[in-house]
Amino acid sequence: MIIERIWPNNKWRNFHYLIACEDTGQAVAVDPLDWKYCLNVAKSLGLTITHILNTHEHLDHIGGNEELRVATGARLLAHTGARETIKGIDQGISHGDVLKIGRRLELQFLDTPGHTRTHLCVLAHGDTPALICGDTLFNAGAGNCHNGGDVGLLYETFVNQFSQLSDKTTIHPGHDYLERNLAFTLNREPDNVAARLLLERAQFSSGATAPVTTLGEERITNTFFRLQNPQIIAGLRSSFPNFPETPDAKTIFMHLRALRNQW
Ligand SMILES: [Zn+2]
Repeated sequence: MIIERIWPNNKWRNFHYLIACEDTGQAVAVDPLDWKYCLNVAKSLGLTITHILNTHEHLDHIGGNEELRVATGARLLAHTGARETIKGIDQGISHGDVLKIGRRLELQFLDTPGHTRTHLCVLAHGDTPALICGDTLFNAGAGNCHNGGDVGLLYETFVNQFSQLSDKTTIHPGHDYLERNLAFTLNREPDNVAARLLLERAQFSSGATAPVTTLGEERITNTFFRLQNPQIIAGLRSSFPNFPETPDAKTIFMHLRALRNQW
């Protein structure tokens, strides 16, 4: 399995991806807003883009679809519920669908609502599993729910789906927000040494070279996976005067997301 992260260096700090079968060179372009750059990278690596995948319907993820389709003849894959919001879907995707690309690449799709209501993540099966997660899960953070999302659904996605994945799963989101997310982690949990060390690494990188985290690292550096942490809960009590004495995990998650919205 080849996962090539593409950094177009745009103002939204998008990441695009090429996921390819190493035997045949057939590749899926994920959210290829800067489609020309994706095409050039594919050519330079000897890859052929056969599919375009949109994780969700926001313009900074779908804006390159048409041109890349014309240039490559690739088939467009997106959430089956997104036909109204994403033009020209060739194949609607549902939870649990599996797509084989080339000889050895197998992609398993997860229906992961929250950032929007029709959001897909992809679990790419290889020696090391990889999660391509759009704007749902970020390195050290969680997506916002400002444009068509639902924070309760986002919580369910984190708890019921992401928490089931193995620690070695690598995390490949739709944007580079690592530094800012780690600063939020440390704002909530100043004693988090792992977050401090990862922040030092992030500060010595640019978007193109930003560290790729694993789910195991997320569990110790991402506030949205640390809902039982006493320091985080104590911080919420001082930020929200009416915060419950014994809050449930969903309440903690939703208040953290609310704080991050303002932060
Ligand atoms: Zn988005």
